[in-house]
Amino acid sequence: MNRIKDFFSSLLLIELVKGMMLTGRYLFARKITVHFPEEKTPQSPRFRGLHALRRYPNGEERCIACKLCESVCPALAITIDSEQRDDGTRRTTSYDIDLTKCIFCGFCEESCPVDSIVETHVLEYHGEKRGDLVYTKEMLLAVGDKYEERIAKDREMDASYR
Ligand code: SF4
Ligand code: SF4
Repeated sequence: MNRIKDFFSSLLLIELVKGMMLTGRYLFARKITVHFPEEKTPQSPRFRGLHALRRYPNGEERCIACKLCESVCPALAITIDSEQRDDGTRRTTSYDIDLTKCIFCGFCEESCPVDSIVETHVLEYHGEKRGDLVYTKEMLLAVGDKYEERIAKDREMDASYR
């Protein structure tokens, strides 16, 4: 019985007609394709993207080289070296994040006592060769300098959720 059913189904191109009906239904439906990068989808204010190191308004870097972020990072993506300044304060001499290891969990920014390391809303970055995605202290500070206004607003909004 099933064989006869299959025979007539093939003969009358039932599957093809069903497929065409499905195509026809979506032909006139509202389009949901987003033409990135010209068009963008909405982004949560709590989105965790590219990392940045922040400065205080006087230009002094916030990071006090406590290494909490390095210890808490589950991916071992952060490597910090530090030294004591003449005035007794401690600062990093190098601060690297390997973004190929990072899982964007946000633990580093959660652990930072001075709001120095943060994850920005920036998602459009890439690397073309090995090592491009290892962000150094200078690169992270440059990201922080560029997006400080937006970072500060996002941090305020974050605080209001807590
Ligand atoms: S977001 Fe998570 S995985 Fe990435 S550097 Fe920070 S703590 Fe490490
Ligand atoms: S970024 Fe924050 S948590 Fe990491 S070493 Fe600097 S002060 Fe400590």
